[in-house]
Amino acid sequence: MQRSRRRKQCFARLADLYSRMDAAYQAAADRVQFTCADCAHNCCVSHFQHHTMVEWAYFLEGIKGHSPEAQAQFLALAQANLTEVQRALALGETPQAMCPMNQAGLCGIYAHRFMICRLHGVAHVITPPGRETHAFPGCPRYEALAMTGAGDPMDRTPFYQELAAVDRAFRETLAGPRPKVDLTLSEMLLLGPPR
Ligand code: SF4
Repeated sequence: MQRSRRRKQCFARLADLYSRMDAAYQAAADRVQFTCADCAHNCCVSHFQHHTMVEWAYFLEGIKGHSPEAQAQFLALAQANLTEVQRALALGETPQAMCPMNQAGLCGIYAHRFMICRLHGVAHVITPPGRETHAFPGCPRYEALAMTGAGDPMDRTPFYQELAAVDRAFRETLAGPRPKVDLTLSEMLLLGPPR
Protein backbone atom coordinates (compact mmCIF):
# COMPACT_ATOMS: atom_id res chain seq x y z
CA MET A 1 0.00 0.00 0.00
CA GLN A 2 1.24 3.49 -0.79
CA ARG A 3 2.95 5.35 2.03
CA SER A 4 0.64 8.40 1.79
CA ARG A 5 -2.44 6.14 1.95
CA ARG A 6 -1.13 4.34 5.03
CA ARG A 7 -0.46 7.71 6.66
CA LYS A 8 -3.98 8.89 5.92
CA GLN A 9 -5.31 5.73 7.54
CA CYS A 10 -3.22 6.46 10.64
CA PHE A 11 -4.57 10.02 10.76
CA ALA A 12 -8.14 8.72 10.44
CA ARG A 13 -7.54 6.25 13.29
CA LEU A 14 -6.07 9.05 15.40
CA ALA A 15 -9.01 11.39 14.69
CA ASP A 16 -11.43 8.63 15.72
CA LEU A 17 -9.43 7.96 18.89
CA TYR A 18 -9.39 11.67 19.71
CA SER A 19 -13.19 11.87 19.36
CA ARG A 20 -13.60 8.98 21.84
CA MET A 21 -11.13 10.64 24.24
CA ASP A 22 -13.18 13.84 24.01
CA ALA A 23 -16.38 11.94 24.82
CA ALA A 24 -14.80 10.15 27.81
CA TYR A 25 -13.36 13.42 29.09
CA GLN A 26 -16.71 15.18 28.75
CA ALA A 27 -18.49 12.36 30.60
CA ALA A 28 -15.96 12.57 33.47
CA ALA A 29 -16.28 16.36 33.58
CA ASP A 30 -20.08 16.25 33.52
CA ARG A 31 -20.19 13.91 36.53
CA VAL A 32 -19.01 16.81 38.72
CA GLN A 33 -20.23 19.72 36.53
CA PHE A 34 -16.61 20.59 35.77
CA THR A 35 -15.86 23.21 33.08
CA CYS A 36 -12.83 25.35 32.24
CA ALA A 37 -14.98 28.48 31.86
CA ASP A 38 -13.53 31.55 33.62
CA CYS A 39 -10.65 29.57 35.10
CA ALA A 40 -7.82 31.87 36.23
CA HIS A 41 -5.19 29.31 35.23
CA ASN A 42 -4.60 28.82 31.50
CA CYS A 43 -3.44 25.24 30.81
CA CYS A 44 -1.87 26.43 27.54
CA VAL A 45 1.12 27.75 29.54
CA SER A 46 1.80 24.25 30.91
CA HIS A 47 5.10 22.60 29.99
CA PHE A 48 3.65 19.70 28.01
CA GLN A 49 5.90 17.25 26.18
CA HIS A 50 4.55 14.89 23.56
CA HIS A 51 5.77 11.40 22.78
CA THR A 52 4.28 10.12 19.53
CA MET A 53 5.26 10.78 15.94
CA VAL A 54 1.71 10.34 14.70
CA GLU A 55 0.46 13.20 16.91
CA TRP A 56 3.43 15.30 15.79
CA ALA A 57 2.60 14.75 12.10
CA TYR A 58 -1.16 15.20 12.61
CA PHE A 59 -0.58 18.48 14.45
CA LEU A 60 1.44 19.77 11.49
CA GLU A 61 -1.37 18.72 9.14
CA GLY A 62 -3.60 21.07 11.14
CA ILE A 63 -1.15 23.94 10.66
CA LYS A 64 -1.55 23.64 6.87
CA GLY A 65 -5.09 25.01 7.20
CA HIS A 66 -3.65 28.44 8.08
CA SER A 67 -2.37 31.09 5.68
CA PRO A 68 1.39 31.29 4.99
CA GLU A 69 1.50 34.53 7.01
CA ALA A 70 -0.19 32.89 10.00
CA GLN A 71 2.15 29.89 9.75
CA ALA A 72 5.16 32.24 9.78
CA GLN A 73 3.74 33.91 12.87
CA PHE A 74 3.29 30.54 14.60
CA LEU A 75 6.94 29.74 13.85
CA ALA A 76 8.09 33.05 15.32
CA LEU A 77 5.98 32.44 18.44
CA ALA A 78 7.35 28.90 18.71
CA GLN A 79 10.91 30.23 18.67
CA ALA A 80 10.03 32.76 21.40
CA ASN A 81 8.33 29.99 23.41
CA LEU A 82 11.37 27.72 23.09
CA THR A 83 13.74 30.51 24.17
CA GLU A 84 11.62 31.21 27.28
CA VAL A 85 11.30 27.50 28.14
CA GLN A 86 15.06 27.00 27.85
CA ARG A 87 15.68 30.08 30.01
CA ALA A 88 13.35 28.79 32.73
CA LEU A 89 14.78 25.26 32.65
CA ALA A 90 18.34 26.61 32.91
CA LEU A 91 17.30 28.39 36.11
CA GLY A 92 15.65 25.26 37.49
CA GLU A 93 12.17 26.81 37.15
CA THR A 94 9.01 25.19 35.80
CA PRO A 95 8.39 26.84 32.41
CA GLN A 96 5.19 28.88 32.09
CA ALA A 97 5.37 30.01 28.47
CA MET A 98 2.20 30.46 26.40
CA CYS A 99 1.72 27.88 23.62
CA PRO A 100 2.34 29.46 20.19
CA MET A 101 -0.98 28.07 18.94
CA ASN A 102 -3.07 29.97 21.50
CA GLN A 103 -4.85 32.77 19.69
CA ALA A 104 -6.55 35.12 22.16
CA GLY A 105 -7.61 32.18 24.30
CA LEU A 106 -8.63 29.90 21.44
CA CYS A 107 -6.61 26.96 20.13
CA GLY A 108 -5.40 27.60 16.57
CA ILE A 109 -5.35 23.86 15.80
CA TYR A 110 -8.34 22.77 17.88
CA ALA A 111 -9.28 19.67 15.83
CA HIS A 112 -5.61 18.65 15.66
CA ARG A 113 -4.61 19.43 19.25
CA PHE A 114 -2.64 16.83 21.19
CA MET A 115 -3.96 14.13 23.51
CA ILE A 116 -2.75 15.93 26.63
CA CYS A 117 -4.57 19.12 25.58
CA ARG A 118 -7.78 17.04 25.44
CA LEU A 119 -7.39 15.14 28.71
CA HIS A 120 -5.75 17.61 31.09
CA GLY A 121 -7.84 18.59 34.11
CA VAL A 122 -10.02 15.65 35.14
CA ALA A 123 -8.82 12.98 37.58
CA HIS A 124 -7.48 9.86 35.89
CA VAL A 125 -5.81 6.52 36.42
CA ILE A 126 -3.15 4.79 34.33
CA THR A 127 -2.06 1.16 34.54
CA PRO A 128 1.27 0.67 32.72
CA PRO A 129 1.89 -2.88 31.41
CA GLY A 130 2.82 -5.21 34.28
CA ARG A 131 2.73 -2.42 36.86
CA GLU A 132 0.40 -1.02 39.48
CA THR A 133 -2.31 1.52 38.72
CA HIS A 134 -1.31 5.13 39.30
CA ALA A 135 -3.97 7.68 40.24
CA PHE A 136 -3.81 11.42 39.47
CA PRO A 137 -6.17 13.90 41.12
CA GLY A 138 -6.85 16.34 38.25
CA CYS A 139 -6.43 20.11 38.37
CA PRO A 140 -7.26 22.07 41.56
CA ARG A 141 -10.72 23.08 40.27
CA TYR A 142 -11.65 19.49 39.37
CA GLU A 143 -10.26 18.23 42.68
CA ALA A 144 -12.41 20.67 44.65
CA LEU A 145 -15.55 19.59 42.78
CA ALA A 146 -14.70 15.89 43.14
CA MET A 147 -14.50 16.30 46.94
CA THR A 148 -18.29 16.13 46.86
CA GLY A 149 -17.87 12.40 46.18
CA ALA A 150 -19.27 12.44 42.65
CA GLY A 151 -15.84 12.23 41.03
CA ASP A 152 -14.96 9.08 39.12
CA PRO A 153 -11.46 9.03 37.60
CA MET A 154 -11.17 8.53 33.88
CA ASP A 155 -9.10 5.48 32.93
CA ARG A 156 -6.57 6.66 30.36
CA THR A 157 -5.00 3.21 29.95
CA PRO A 158 -6.97 2.00 26.88
CA PHE A 159 -6.47 5.35 25.16
CA TYR A 160 -2.70 5.24 25.76
CA GLN A 161 -2.58 1.67 24.46
CA GLU A 162 -4.52 2.56 21.32
CA LEU A 163 -2.42 5.67 20.70
CA ALA A 164 0.74 3.57 20.99
CA ALA A 165 -0.66 1.14 18.41
CA VAL A 166 -1.51 3.94 15.96
CA ASP A 167 1.94 5.42 16.52
CA ARG A 168 3.61 2.09 15.75
CA ALA A 169 1.66 1.87 12.47
CA PHE A 170 2.61 5.45 11.60
CA ARG A 171 6.29 4.88 12.34
CA GLU A 172 6.27 2.07 9.79
CA THR A 173 5.59 4.72 7.12
CA LEU A 174 8.74 6.70 7.99
CA ALA A 175 11.87 6.41 5.90
CA GLY A 176 14.35 7.56 8.52
CA PRO A 177 15.20 6.51 12.09
CA ARG A 178 12.37 6.35 14.64
CA PRO A 179 13.90 7.63 17.88
CA LYS A 180 12.03 8.15 21.15
CA VAL A 181 10.02 11.38 21.02
CA ASP A 182 10.11 13.79 23.96
CA LEU A 183 9.37 17.20 22.47
CA THR A 184 7.24 20.24 23.14
CA LEU A 185 4.80 21.52 20.54
CA SER A 186 7.19 24.40 19.76
CA GLU A 187 10.08 22.03 19.18
CA MET A 188 7.93 19.92 16.83
CA LEU A 189 6.80 22.99 14.93
CA LEU A 190 10.37 24.24 14.50
CA LEU A 191 11.68 20.81 13.48
CA GLY A 192 9.01 20.25 10.82
CA PRO A 193 7.28 16.92 10.14
CA PRO A 194 8.86 13.61 11.19
CA ARG A 195 10.25 11.79 8.14
S1 SF4 B 1 -2.27 23.10 21.18
FE1 SF4 B 1 -4.08 24.33 21.59
S2 SF4 B 1 -5.02 23.45 23.46
FE2 SF4 B 1 -2.91 22.63 23.30
S3 SF4 B 1 -1.67 24.02 24.57
FE3 SF4 B 1 -1.60 24.82 22.44
S4 SF4 B 1 -3.28 26.33 22.28
FE4 SF4 B 1 -3.62 25.09 24.15
